[in-house]
Amino acid sequence: MGSVATFRGQIGPDELGVTLIHEHIFVRNPELELNLADGEWDPARAVETAIRGLTDLYELGIRTVVDLTVPGLGRDVRLVAEVAERAPVNLVASTGWYTSNVLPVYFGFHGPGLTIDEPDPLIALFVRDIRQGIASTGVRAGMLKVMTDADGITPDVARVMTAAAVAHQETGVPITTHSSPASRNGLLQQALLGEHGVPADRIIIGHCGDTDDLDYLRELMDNGSTIGMDRFGMEHDQPDDRRTRTVVALLERGYADRMVLSHDAAYYSHVTPPSWRAASAPRWRMDTISRHILPALRGAGVSDDEIDQMLIHNPRRLLEGVA
Ligand SMILES: [Zn+2]
Repeated sequence: MGSVATFRGQIGPDELGVTLIHEHIFVRNPELELNLADGEWDPARAVETAIRGLTDLYELGIRTVVDLTVPGLGRDVRLVAEVAERAPVNLVASTGWYTSNVLPVYFGFHGPGLTIDEPDPLIALFVRDIRQGIASTGVRAGMLKVMTDADGITPDVARVMTAAAVAHQETGVPITTHSSPASRNGLLQQALLGEHGVPADRIIIGHCGDTDDLDYLRELMDNGSTIGMDRFGMEHDQPDDRRTRTVVALLERGYADRMVLSHDAAYYSHVTPPSWRAASAPRWRMDTISRHILPALRGAGVSDDEIDQMLIHNPRRLLEGVA
């Protein structure tokens, strides 16, 4: 059993405890910060907000939060490390690239057969983030993240996914996806990653709670993957009671060992800044599962064992077993 990389170093799988497996500490865009700044972004204040929020989560029983903020979403592990040093929960960093269609122009020039003819720098980046640490900080990534949205698997999206598959094969680090359930493209993600040697049971197909198409969700799980019911509180996309009903329906069909619960929330996002979230998405917070969803699940007859399976044992199974 491998240890798990966190911002404060390696920990034993037993220490993971209740885990929110798909969250964001800060979602930023350095180029926009230089040119189209958001008046609500104040790094010092954001750090304090995150520490307060994570301390509240600890008091609610949460022990680990996976920060799926990869490059493309403004990953800044130095800033998150300031949070990790003073917050009681374990934070896990991730690597990958967030794009739904095209990569930055750099990647059109660097890579096999390109102007600067060299091995794919995405693979080098992912493997270095996992093995040595991110941006010379020594903080090692414990999760890979790729995405496919409504545009489908474009050539650049396929390149990211292929690089993540190579990094997975070298390191064993699991892969979480951002998928678009409306286009059922989690199945395409399983197929492409599978072609490149990633076992389905090392993949979390993310954002599956956005749909209540049970046949689609069962197919993903029957293929071996875990699905992320990971957007609780995002009621502007799908109300929580529908998300909850879907989880209950799948638990009744015996899928407790194939679902993980999270919010995809953030303590700050340039995309949807704090004032917008407070006014328009008040439940899109990392304490919504603890405060609202678990009571609703228990009210619907879900057992503590099933809840522990989704919040403790499934995340642990995915995060451990890393080479
Ligand atoms: Zn996310």
